[in-house]
Amino acid sequence: MKNKIQTALIHAERKAPQYIETIQPPIFRASTIIFKNTAALFDRHWTDEYDYSYGTHGTPTTFTLSDNIAQIESGRYCLLAPSGLSAINLVNSCFLNRDDEVWVADNIYGPNMEHLDYLQKHYGVVVKVYNPLLAESFQPNEKTKLLWLEAAGSVTLEFPDLVNLVKKAKQANVLTALDNTWGAGLAFNAFDFSEEHLGVDITIHALTKYPSGGGDILMGSVVTKDKKLHHQLFKMHSIQGISISGDDAAQVQRSLASMQIRYEHQAKSALKIMQWLKTNHAFSQVLHPANPDSAGHQHWKEICTTEQSAGLVSVIFKPEYDLTAIRKFCDNLSLFKLGFSWGGPVSLAMLYQLNQMRKLPTPHLAKGILVRFCIGLEDPEDLIQDIQNALEKMNDNHI
Ligand SMILES: *Cc1c(COP(=O)(O)O)cnc(C)c1O
Repeated sequence: MKNKIQTALIHAERKAPQYIETIQPPIFRASTIIFKNTAALFDRHWTDEYDYSYGTHGTPTTFTLSDNIAQIESGRYCLLAPSGLSAINLVNSCFLNRDDEVWVADNIYGPNMEHLDYLQKHYGVVVKVYNPLLAESFQPNEKTKLLWLEAAGSVTLEFPDLVNLVKKAKQANVLTALDNTWGAGLAFNAFDFSEEHLGVDITIHALTKYPSGGGDILMGSVVTKDKKLHHQLFKMHSIQGISISGDDAAQVQRSLASMQIRYEHQAKSALKIMQWLKTNHAFSQVLHPANPDSAGHQHWKEICTTEQSAGLVSVIFKPEYDLTAIRKFCDNLSLFKLGFSWGGPVSLAMLYQLNQMRKLPTPHLAKGILVRFCIGLEDPEDLIQDIQNALEKMNDNHI
């Protein structure tokens, strides 16, 4: 029986043979996934590793990416989310209930702290803030469920005392979650980072940064090694309807091939720029984990065996430079664009007023306005020249 044209347009009768081999995998776009028959419908179970049932739960395109992210981070299981912040939210909403206590580093990614403050206000979660440089400031009790870590903090770049913090959490039976965006799975192995094989339970990663590398895609991941934790997270992922598009997944997958090369290039450039910044008199501090004057440098050295130190470097201007002067500096940068995020091809600068950001005292940080530089893929000599020009222009009018 020949179908009428309207039906034939929907049920294509001619289809080119599939399954050729290509460099990049094909892109699946799916809400509906078609079951071959009722047996296929009834045979499936959500705990199957590649359970193809509906677009939100995964396609070959998204599973390929999640497998690769899990591998880069030396984990086993990975869930994808539409942004890094959404991945953070998934962990918080999965493991925190009323009256549970969560400990969070004072230098944690700001929106994570905001999300936890929201859970405290509206859902009765108890939020405690600790100093990431002092493991003693983390004081778990029987209500403590989760410890949030970040290495290094993405604005002030202190590298935390990961070994002692994780050791303490394990002893107290507290889950550990690490924001692994800075290390990206390349600077250190979050699941096994010490001689005693200490590791965190969960990592989140803003794939928006190094894995995407383009400054154009938003995505996040939650990686675990433990099947039970993964299943808990998977259920919450399903309940919340979290999903990402096949096109976005394919874009990030395509960028993974060059991720390590980009990361190393940006880390090398940042080191060079950091050394130059240290010779300049406008700054009272240059913050970078590989800078021996930067808080947490010793902790960085314990764990990061290579010169893998990401592409971020921050400066605190001397107090005589006020907001007007520093705005002038930022406005006179030309290669550095003013913007949030990092890990893309274009270098970025962002200005922060630290006194509005922290809950605990920060004696290790100078008073003054902070500018963070996110080093892109440009030649570092040109970037240094750009900073120098902007400093000269700022000083023109400075008395
Ligand atoms: C950017 C970032 C996030 C959030 O990622 P988005 O995809 O922008 O939501 C989380 N943590 C860190 C350290 C980040 O830099």
